[in-house]
Order: sequence, then C-alpha cells, then structure tokens
Amino acid sequence: MTSGNFPGDLPSGNSPPGITDVHVHIQPWRQLKPRVMDVMRRGKEDHWAFLLALMDDPRALLEVMDQAGVWRVGLVNYPSPDLMGFTDETNEFAARYAQAAPERLLPYGGVHPRFAGDIRGHVDALIALGIRCVKIHPPHQLFPANAHTQGMQTLGALYRRCEERGLPVMIHTGTSVFPGARCKYGHPMELDDVAVDFPDLTIIMAHGGRPLWMDEAFFILRRHPNVHLDVSGIPPLRLLEYFPRLAEIADRVLWGTDWPSPGVHDLKRNLQQFLSLDLPGQTKDRITRGNALRVFPPAAR
Ligand SMILES: [Zn+2]
Repeated sequence: MTSGNFPGDLPSGNSPPGITDVHVHIQPWRQLKPRVMDVMRRGKEDHWAFLLALMDDPRALLEVMDQAGVWRVGLVNYPSPDLMGFTDETNEFAARYAQAAPERLLPYGGVHPRFAGDIRGHVDALIALGIRCVKIHPPHQLFPANAHTQGMQTLGALYRRCEERGLPVMIHTGTSVFPGARCKYGHPMELDDVAVDFPDLTIIMAHGGRPLWMDEAFFILRRHPNVHLDVSGIPPLRLLEYFPRLAEIADRVLWGTDWPSPGVHDLKRNLQQFLSLDLPGQTKDRITRGNALRVFPPAAR
C-alpha cells in the first residue's frame, strides 16, 4: 500500500499509528438464523464463500486490511440470540479472532440486558477476555437505549459498570434491514438519557441515526462531549449531505465502514471515498486516526 493513492498528506494506513476502521462485522455468521442469513447473503452470492472463510481466518482479514491501507479494525460483536442468532459465544469468538494480531484487531463484545443477570460480573469477564468495547444494538436486542430510565435495571448496571471500568460503549442508531429488527429502537434521541446519566461513559453513536434521524443525532453529538459519532454505514460520498456541520464535531468523529454489511462492498473504496471529501487534511487525519487512538489507545489491552 502506498500513500500515493490518498489525496492529501495522510500516511499510509496499515502501519502504526495508522488508520482505524472502528466498525467491521467479523462475527460468527454460522450462528445466523436462516432468514437473517438470507438477507446477509443477498448481493454477496459471488463472494459469500470468501466472506464465510474470512470469519474463520484472521489472516484473510489482515490481507484485506493491508490492501486497503487500514491499520486496525474494531470487530463488532454482540449477543442477539432470539433475533440474529448470536449467542454469548460471540464474545469468545471476537477475543480469539483478535489474538492473531492484538495490535490490529480490536474485539468488541456484549452483555444482553434482557437475558443476563450478574451484569457487573459479565462486564468484568469481558474485560478479562480482552474485549475493548461493548456493543449495544437496540433494534436487534429489542429495548430502547434509555430503557434504564423505564425500570430496566440490568441496562443501567451495564452502563454503570462500563463507565466505572472505562470501557467504551457503542450503540447502534438508525434503521436495520434484518428480519425481526425493531427500527423504532434506533432513535438517537434515546442516547440523551444515557449521556446525561453516565457523563463519564465513552459513548460511540454508530451510524448517526442514518437514514432518518441525522438532525437529532447531530443535536446529541453537540450537546454531549462524551458522545462520539461512528460514520460507518453512511455512504462516504454522502457524509457531508447527512452531516453538513461535521467539522464542528470533528474531534469526536470516528471513521468506520460497516463492511461487509448489506450495501457496504469494499473497505478500500470506502476509505478512498472518505479521503476524497472536501474537508481539511487535518480533519480527515483526526477522523481516520487521531480520535480512534484516543478512544482505543494501542497500549491498553
Ligand atoms: Zn454495523
């Protein structure tokens, strides 16, 4: 990979401290429920076998990252046994996968507040396993992100323990195309309660409410200094249409792709498109590298 492909003066991404994609879906796809798998496979029939193999072989992913000029990726995982099919094993899967290159692969995991009891113990176990971020997916886990204000004590305990232990929490916002997903739970306004009640929690708002609720998402981002925007899933060439005032919050924006989710075909092309946007080089550098180094410091494992 040469930096010559990139506009501006950005370094080539795959050597430290290079470019971080905070949001890729490397998950135990074999656990997917059949009707969910059908949706996941749609449009990817010609490289489905490659993608399935990728979920078993970190070396294949590292090769994709090298070709794209990406140093690190966040491996998004979360339990959703009743809707997606992912059991708690998704946590061990992520941790094991990341062992192939701990500097470059950041395992994310989760605790399901509708099913788990001892939340503190579960969060501590995730940290012991090496998990770097807790993913909460309200439309796939079937509760609003602020359900702790409506009596869901396990969710409150989850936020509290992550805040105490300094473990970032990524919350999906926006819609989902998978069968059974409840899109109403993707509303970013619900992160307001989370940010108010847990001011020291590092919150990553995935997808910025795309495609319906960008105004609300931007309001939450401006209001709360502990909320970050992960731009994954937003077509990079349309990012400034979705968030015309992105530069105002640039010190809390994290680049991510959502690859290989439906509609996201190519890590490298996504990065190149982002780097072609009409933003100052310094801003692009922060979004692709600097902010992620702060949220996910390389040394802390
Ligand atoms: Zn995602």
